[in-house]
Amino acid sequence: MESLLGKTLTEFKAIALENNLPAFAAKELARWIYQKGISDIDQMTNISKKAREALKKKYEIGRFEPTKVQTSADGTKKYLYPALKGLFIEAAYIPDKDRHTLCVSSQVGCKMGCLFCMTGKQGFQGQLTAGEILNQVLSLPESNLLTNIVFMGMGEPMDNIDNVLQSLEIFTADWGLGWSPRRITVSTVGVEPAMRRFIEESEAHLAISLHSPFNEERRRLMPVEHVYPVESIINTLREYDFGRQRRVSFEYIMFDGVNDTSKHIKGLTKLLNGLRCRVNLIRFHAIPGSPLNGSLPEKMKWFADELNKKGLITTIRKSRGEDIFAACGLLSTKNMVKQNV
Ligand code: SF4
Repeated sequence: MESLLGKTLTEFKAIALENNLPAFAAKELARWIYQKGISDIDQMTNISKKAREALKKKYEIGRFEPTKVQTSADGTKKYLYPALKGLFIEAAYIPDKDRHTLCVSSQVGCKMGCLFCMTGKQGFQGQLTAGEILNQVLSLPESNLLTNIVFMGMGEPMDNIDNVLQSLEIFTADWGLGWSPRRITVSTVGVEPAMRRFIEESEAHLAISLHSPFNEERRRLMPVEHVYPVESIINTLREYDFGRQRRVSFEYIMFDGVNDTSKHIKGLTKLLNGLRCRVNLIRFHAIPGSPLNGSLPEKMKWFADELNKKGLITTIRKSRGEDIFAACGLLSTKNMVKQNV
């Protein structure tokens, strides 16, 4: 069965045609799935029974409810969703005053192998479809409360760019979920060709996982640096206009004695000079078997103050959901298969 969830309006038009429905039925299909949030084709009451029966021969809606939820002492919730081939993905719901963010996954596992990340240790197991990305939002019990979506869960979004762009089109279209792209942020380690496509074909905010301004050191933390060196990523960003509306930010996990010195402040200031951007400092959440430790809070504060003095807008990101392994870099579904959950 093919999922209707994840289809674009153009695809719905083709489906309408193939089922002898009038062209305007395409918008109806989209409205039922994305705005009414139905989970069964029979709920499309303004589509004839005959047409619904025809649709059901080939399609299903493609909604999957989360199979497990863990709630942190700080209110963060980690949801487990079924995905392809009996595997699972996780999404983290982070309520914070009037801001309710969902951190979504774009892949099962990840190929990028970042030294500090549990998902990286899991390895790559598959791409999520646009429908599986959208489902994390639509099937979330708190879906109606959401104000922001960040693509910072499992996987490297630019390594699944076709499906990520398709999901963004549906998230933001008036026939889709109608979200403002300014409430969506997509993160990348800097996979340049796909990053260019993302900048040109979408209007969502961009976040770059930086973690060091120096090649040698970044290479040790993030193998992708071998292919896309940091200066090249920044030079690419300089070609585009990140004006008042669209934001580029840099994520910087702080490792004790590794990337938290005055040399790094100088390096970052030089690297990002003149680029309209902001820097988010993130506390490192220790993962099993990692030689890395997080910088102390005082050190992080000093680092943020120094960068701000040098004109780089820098904030320390609040750490959320660490006790349930929902915090940044802790998502993993490595040993989960459908039968034992
Ligand atoms: Fe992949 Fe992101 Fe983890 Fe790196 S940090 S291994 S890109 S999920």
